[in-house]
Amino acid sequence: MVRITGLRKSFGSNEVLRGIDLSVEKGTTIAVIGPSGSGKSTLLRCVNHLDPPTAGSIEIDGEPMSLRPDAPYRRQEAQLNRMRSQVGMVFQRFNLFPHRSAIGNVMEGLLVVRRMAEPEARRIAAAMLDRVGLAAKMDAYPAQLSGGQQQRVAIARSLVMEPKVMLFDEATSALDPELVDEVLTVMRELAAEGLTMIVVTHEMGFARDVARSVVFMDQGVIVEQAAPQDIFVAPQHDRTRQFLRKVL
Ligand code: ATP
Ligand code: MG
Repeated sequence: MVRITGLRKSFGSNEVLRGIDLSVEKGTTIAVIGPSGSGKSTLLRCVNHLDPPTAGSIEIDGEPMSLRPDAPYRRQEAQLNRMRSQVGMVFQRFNLFPHRSAIGNVMEGLLVVRRMAEPEARRIAAAMLDRVGLAAKMDAYPAQLSGGQQQRVAIARSLVMEPKVMLFDEATSALDPELVDEVLTVMRELAAEGLTMIVVTHEMGFARDVARSVVFMDQGVIVEQAAPQDIFVAPQHDRTRQFLRKVL
């Protein structure tokens, strides 16, 4: 389970997260919605320490995601790598290595972070590409893949690291409309298989069908959190109502 307590994040004098408390039970999916600039991406980036929080704590299965600033640099770096390998992240842009094939991209973390032998890494990567429906595209380079296929490679690349939680930041926003479903289908399957996921999304249908609970953020706080049937049908706050009126 993921437990976020009193999370704050400032960039200079701009406080972007202003005290976020959020728990995600193991095996469940939380959807995060809210207007542009409300802090959704920053929240995800803090969870995997791409942005170090200004205050507050994040725990994953009881283990704190924080660095000991007094530790030697090498040890902090090792700790950061270990923490990050527990959290998978998929962005709007696919961020694949352009000069590596699909399977090369998926194997990378296994070879470099896990120091796995090449044949085993290849076997695991191939199985994961098969799982996201890309068995036929293992040797294709990113430029030879559609956006939806590239995004599925990015998902497979995260999944092979066996993360305890997967973070999705508008994973389908950059895709042509006809490619959105193939990625959402993979995400639905992962949710059904019991992966723990925090999904920032504009896809309200996905949030309604898949999320255990929906979080509405505005101006760096959680305004409202409720089950999808409650938040979409009977939001409790004006700000939530106004936002939903625009996006539904
Ligand atoms: P969107 O829906 O447009 O993706 P968001 O909810 O993800 O928006 P964030 O990207 O988290 O919003 O940004 C929240 C605020 O933090 C914005 O005002 C943004 O300008 C600011 N911000 C984000 N990253 C940085 C940074 N690295 N340096 C300075 N300010 C930042
Ligand atoms: Mg964002």
